[in-house]
Amino acid sequence: MSARDCIFCKIASGEIPATRVYDDEVCIAFNDLNPEAPTHILIVPREHLDSLDHADRDQKKMLGHLLYTAAQIAREKHFAHDGYRVVINTNADGGQTIFHLHVHLLAGRPFTFPPG
Ligand code: AMP
Ligand code: ZN
Repeated sequence: MSARDCIFCKIASGEIPATRVYDDEVCIAFNDLNPEAPTHILIVPREHLDSLDHADRDQKKMLGHLLYTAAQIAREKHFAHDGYRVVINTNADGGQTIFHLHVHLLAGRPFTFPPG
């Protein structure tokens, strides 16, 4: 998938609308269009990366930034104490459907483990 045709690159640039909940110079966060929980936010790096499988050592800091951002949003939106689930679907067996790396942040109901 090239960045030019990528829906999450287009959301990051503002070309396609999304309900943004947070953004900074490294990432944006917006509500998932088809939520799997009362709160379902996607945290997406501005830089295009097909998946976690495509990350190299230069991207370690950015990967940490995504996780820290998830924790910050959970605290700011006051669901950290009740709990939440962070998921990165990776490649076909991981259930990835959009090939621009993203972190799912889910909350508002109990989750089971392992997921289906
Ligand atoms: P994954 O299956 O991990 O690749 O997740 C892709 C997610 O992107 C799914 O949860 C979709 O509901 C979500 N999604 C797809 N298109 C959009 C969009 N335009 N705006 C917000 N979320 C989207
Ligand atoms: Zn992209």
